[in-house]
Order: sequence, then structure tokens, then C-alpha cells
Amino acid sequence: MIRELEENRRMANSALDSTHRAARSFWRLMLGTSFVGIVCHLSFVVLFYLNGVTALALVNVGSVTLYATSAFLLSRGLAPWIAFFFVIFEVLAHAVLASYWVGWETGFYFYAILAIPVLIVADFQRLPSKILSVIGATVLVVGLDILVRSRAPVHVLPNHVVDGLHYFNLSAALSILIFMVANYFWLIKRAESELHLLATTDSLTHLLNRRSMVDAWRFEKERQESTGASLSLILCDIDHFKQINDTHGHDVGDRVLQAVSETLASNLRETDHLARWGGEEFIIMLVGAPLDTAVRIAEDLRAAVVETAIETDAVEGNKTLSVTATFGVSAMLPDLSESLEAAVARADAALYNGKRSGRNCVCRHDYEGLRDMVKDAFA
Ligand code: GH3
Ligand code: MG
Ligand code: MG
Repeated sequence: MIRELEENRRMANSALDSTHRAARSFWRLMLGTSFVGIVCHLSFVVLFYLNGVTALALVNVGSVTLYATSAFLLSRGLAPWIAFFFVIFEVLAHAVLASYWVGWETGFYFYAILAIPVLIVADFQRLPSKILSVIGATVLVVGLDILVRSRAPVHVLPNHVVDGLHYFNLSAALSILIFMVANYFWLIKRAESELHLLATTDSLTHLLNRRSMVDAWRFEKERQESTGASLSLILCDIDHFKQINDTHGHDVGDRVLQAVSETLASNLRETDHLARWGGEEFIIMLVGAPLDTAVRIAEDLRAAVVETAIETDAVEGNKTLSVTATFGVSAMLPDLSESLEAAVARADAALYNGKRSGRNCVCRHDYEGLRDMVKDAFA
């Protein structure tokens, strides 16, 4: 189960890094758009010049300059909102001028339509300016349609050039739209799974938290009804943990919790469930293990915890520390009527016995006759 723990740790670290991820992604999108803008508008300069539309060729030289400035500002992280303004201004102005000059059919207005979702996802805009800019762009697109669509162009391009421009612009606008929507969908999915992870795991040890263990119990109990597999619980409590905190400091205490978590996880199967139950207490739910097997597994875990070496902050002398833990084991009652609380309470009673009989041992709670029995004592 160590793989699951490592995956949780990796995702939790990435979740911590997720602050402003949407904003970073937006500016990357703007930078990418600026580079694509440079290449496209350089081609337009050549195309319009070769077709005798010198005025538009010159306009496109201006467009290339705006995109190059935006790319420079964005790649340096300088005044990115100016870069954003340049890109939006260029897209809208270019759509108006090109639609007016060489006709609606060339499809330059596609980019103006595309500017609307870009204005919505722009992360830095405050809501009022966002609403105003979206309304402004929408009015512009509709106004352009009303005024230009049925109007003869100033410069009539050959049909094949109009068709070429139309399909190029349509494909480019659709590609940008697909890329943008896919990117935001991915961001949402990632945020969703990170939130789920943060809500279901413990931030220090990256193990499941108490709530997830309750969910896992419900799930396994339902499954048990059909498969009849045994379910056992092991409670593990680190011995004299307060003393470790007091002697070595809280940070070393935290390190102990992480090291014990790793030891427990690496000695359990993927099908088992391991959670941090409370401060220095862990809970393990073994699937398909009757009480005797669970006691054997707890014994292996106890031995593995003793072997775990933890780095301390000591500059001289013994730089590593070892700890012990006491284990209480209970198996779920076979008639399925028992609640998790009741099964945990029985494991806790066994754990308490273990603490009383000297710690560093495994104790079981037999449900036949509900006797407490000390299994092993290694005081
Ligand atoms: P016993 O052997 O009987 O279990 O004694 P103990 O000292 O382990 O138990 P006790 O309940 O007296 O102390 C538990 C301590 O665990 C007290 C609390 O400050 C500490 N603790 C709880 N959560 C954390 C944590 O996240 N990090 C650290 N460093 N300490 C914690
Ligand atoms: Mg405790
Ligand atoms: Mg303890």
C-alpha cells in the first residue's frame, strides 16, 4: 500500500502548488496565442501584399508588432495585462478592419467571437470590468454582423483566396477554442481530484483520514455481505509519544508520525485500509483476514515499527531514534450487526490492555465471550 501513500503525497504536494494555477495557465495561453499571432499575421502581410491589399498588409505589420510586444511582455512577466489588452485590441480591430476591407466571407470575425470566452476566463479582471468587456465584445460582433455582412467589400479578393482565408480562419479559431476548453476542463478535473484528496487524507502523513476510514468501512461491510469475507481492525498507538515531543521537539514528533505511517503502509497489502485515526494513533482495516491472521499481521507491524529508524535533529551522539507501538486487534462480529464504533471500541479495549501490560505488544479482543486477552508482551 506504499504506492498509494506515495501517490497521495505526490498529489498533495501538487495541490499545494496549485495556487494561481488557473492564472498561470491563462498567461501561458496568452503567450501561446501571441506566438501563433506573430506567425499568422506575418503570413497575412505577405498574402495581402501579393493580392494588392496594401492597406491591410500594413495593418498586419502593426498586428505583428503588437503580438511581438505581447510575447515579450508575457515571457518576461512584465505588465501582462498590457499584453492581454494588446491581444484583445488586435483581435477585435483586425476583425473589424478585415471584415470591412476584404469582406465578411473571409471569416476574420471568428476571432472576435473567440475573444468573448477569453475575456470571461481572464483571471485578473474584476467582475464589473469583465461584464463590461464581455458585453462590449458581444455588441461589437453583433454590430459588425449587422453593418458588414451584406455589404460589398472595399477590395474584392479572388474567390479561391476568400475560400482559403475562410477555412484557414475557421480552423484556427476552432483549434484555439478546442485547446482552451480542453485546458480549462483539465484544470477543473485536476482541482476536483486535489480537493477530494485534501478532504479525504491527513495532511501530515498523507494517509486516509478518519472520515475516509468510516467510508471504507461502509464499503467493505456492504461487500462483506455478499462475499462473506472476514474484516478485522487493528488500532496502533505509538508509545510514550508525548515524551518524544518533549525531548526532541514537535518537528521530530511529526517525523516519527510520517516514518511510522510509511512503515505501516509498506507492510500492508493494497486491499487493506490504513488511516490516521487521531494524534499518534493509526487504524488498519484488513479485508479477508480473520482475527488470528490480523493478530499475526499486527505482530509483523509491531516488529517493523521497532526497526524503523527516525532522524533526529541531534548534532552529536545518537542521531537516530527508534519508537515502539502498542496494537489492539478486533474482528468484526460475523452477524454483521456491529457498528464501526463498536468494533473500534473493542480494539481500543485491547489496546488499553496492551498499554497496561507494558506497551510494545499486540493484544486481541475476542468476541467469543468478549474476553480481553493479552497475546504477547514485549515490555
Ligand atoms: P502512551 O504510550 O500511553 O500512548 O502515551 P503517549 O505519550 O503516546 O500518549 P499521550 O496521549 O499522553 O500523548 C499523545 C501526544 O501526541 C500528545 C500530543 O501533543 C501529541 N500529538 C498529537 N498529534 C500530534 C502531531 O500531529 N504532531 C506531533 N508532533 N505531536 C502530536
Ligand atoms: Mg494515544
Ligand atoms: Mg501513545
